[in-house]
Amino acid sequence: MSRGVLVTGASRGIGAAVARAFAEQGDRVAVHYGQSRGAAEKVLADLPGDGHLLVQADLADADAVRRAVDEAAEGLGGLDVLVNNAGVFLAHPPLTTSYDDWQRLWSQTIATNLTGAANATFCALPHLVSRGGGAVVNVSSRGAFRGEPECPAYGASKAGLNAFGQSMAQALAPHGIAVGTVAPGFVETDMAAEVLDGPRGDEVRGQSPTGRVARPEEVAAAVLWLASPEARFSTGTIIDVNGASYLR
Ligand code: NAD
Repeated sequence: MSRGVLVTGASRGIGAAVARAFAEQGDRVAVHYGQSRGAAEKVLADLPGDGHLLVQADLADADAVRRAVDEAAEGLGGLDVLVNNAGVFLAHPPLTTSYDDWQRLWSQTIATNLTGAANATFCALPHLVSRGGGAVVNVSSRGAFRGEPECPAYGASKAGLNAFGQSMAQALAPHGIAVGTVAPGFVETDMAAEVLDGPRGDEVRGQSPTGRVARPEEVAAAVLWLASPEARFSTGTIIDVNGASYLR
């Protein structure tokens, strides 16, 4: 049965791969974007199947998030799955960042990665309940477990997202809504390009005994499974996609 799926931050990277994976299995996808309308239109045009659409919102804007979620549910003819994928990694090393920059980058990171995902989930609830259940999948990070020294807000936002997912899994299970989390290590996307293409690239690839980092499609596969009916009883779980570079 075709489901209605909203993927945040789907104009590129992991989000675009997730959107494509759902469309390939016959689902209808709302491709959310923040500012990159052109890139999002291209992702949309390349999706197989029918019934897909674009929605726009700055995830740090609570009203815009509500509008985008409602638009997605209406345009898709019902919302069954929300994937909270959008995120930012904004470096602010604690010993070399001014207090003004610290405030700005901390707030922007938490507002997008954590509060944006929480607001999107809250706004999706009436739609998911009206469908008799569904799934929320959060895209977290290995950094939630081992920290991010260059970007403490990122590690904190993703650790918060893990705890948020586990809280919501318990709250929503009685309503047939599963909440799962994927925690990737480095992934071949624009977000990681500066590190992967820079002097630390080989060291980072060597963190995994596979000698490489993840492909966006490998993260999408875990998202797809967590959103599937077969994963309903695995609600609350966190799946590592890091090539054994970090074992909890
Ligand atoms: P990316 O930078 O390629 O894509 C992020 C997407 O989020 C973009 O489409 C961007 O426009 C969107 N976005 C960011 N801030 C937004 C805002 N305020 N409002 C609306 N949209 C916004 O990054 P990616 O690698 O595809 O990352 C996707 C997710 O995976 C993120 O949550 C990221 O933290 C996580 N992740 C990535 C890696 C990695 O190495 N690439 C590792 C672990 C986790």
